[in-house]
Amino acid sequence: MKIMSINAGSSSLKFSLFDMNTNEVLVSGLFERIGIDGSCYTIKNSEFKIKQEVQLKDHSDAVKILLDKLIELKIINSLEEIDGIGHRVVHGGANYTESVVVTDKVIDDIVKLSDLAPLHNPAHVIGIKAFKEVLPNTPMVVVFDTAFHQTMPKENYLYAVPYSWYEKYGVRKYGFHGTSHRYITKKISEVLGRDDLRIISCHLGQGGSIAAIKNGKCVDTTMGFTPLAGIVMGTRSGDVDPSIIPFVMEKEGLSAGEVVNALNKKSGLLGVSEISSDSRDIENAIKEGNEKASLAQKMFVNSVVKYISQYYVELGGVDVITFTAGIGENSVQTRLEIIEKLAPLGIKMDIEANNVRGEVKCISSKDSSSLVYLVPTDEELMIAMDTLALIK
Ligand code: AMP
Repeated sequence: MKIMSINAGSSSLKFSLFDMNTNEVLVSGLFERIGIDGSCYTIKNSEFKIKQEVQLKDHSDAVKILLDKLIELKIINSLEEIDGIGHRVVHGGANYTESVVVTDKVIDDIVKLSDLAPLHNPAHVIGIKAFKEVLPNTPMVVVFDTAFHQTMPKENYLYAVPYSWYEKYGVRKYGFHGTSHRYITKKISEVLGRDDLRIISCHLGQGGSIAAIKNGKCVDTTMGFTPLAGIVMGTRSGDVDPSIIPFVMEKEGLSAGEVVNALNKKSGLLGVSEISSDSRDIENAIKEGNEKASLAQKMFVNSVVKYISQYYVELGGVDVITFTAGIGENSVQTRLEIIEKLAPLGIKMDIEANNVRGEVKCISSKDSSSLVYLVPTDEELMIAMDTLALIK
């Protein structure tokens, strides 16, 4: 069985083709600058990497080239070999609590939810339609980033704002990165051989979120109505006092949209360090004695520690804390700084075990009150697994 996992953006299309017998990636890649000058694609696997400039007027062009290329490269012999396609969709609102097979109603619902995810949902629909046009008979599934978080109790997903905003406009916490948190939950449950776990899942990448999970279900998470809320991120501020917005609008003569844009794109590690949103650059600048980089790192670590402590209490203790995504999987130093601050909870790191990157590994010490694990995430595989399960 071969399943393709797709993440369509407004001018990009990311893909991975899986052999579901082995969960192996046969080929993956990216089409970029679709509909813009200078469009190109990259296709790679362990044996080759092809990068080619090509005119891509729309997503259908990208899909056609992708499928032709798969045959030309002998990854597949015919299009019938692709058994299903799974599409990542950022926003599924409150009603989509799990992945579903694509129907016209599902597409309509994703379009309707564009209000809540204007940069993402319309682009996903373009991607779905492009595949539908080229492969009309291949079953397709959508996997929502929000779905995993829809088990949060009402007291955790509501904001203490006028209730009518929730009723009229759906103003509430939705949570994101759900596919990653769900993959981590599945993986760590397999590794520990138990489902009855209290997990704090830390997805620390360019965007970052933490989820509190009990018996496989999400109880709370840090991202909110949008992915702007929660911990400090690469370029996102995380939680701020909303009164800052009208204050800065007046001081700088900006619109609300411009201030929110700055909170999304010019804040976080980048905003405070004034150097970079990339944690590797921050770590290098700290070594050179840069104080703002050091401050940005401390604020990042504190924001993560604050939520881990909160979720520790919310879950009534924790069995395992997991780290994943770019920073969580690779930054030995950041993991160490976070775990050192959790000493009052009896959580301790095995410094030597922590000297690891990108593999499933226990990194807590034997006398730690909770386990700490490094678990590389694989959202594409999770999407492919959901697709396989739904089309079978
Ligand atoms: P992601 O969004 O999951 O791709 O993660 C991107 C983030 O991971 C960036 O901030 C990178 O700096 C960070 N990252 C990747 N590799 C490393 C590394 N070796 N050490 C520290 N941070 C890393």
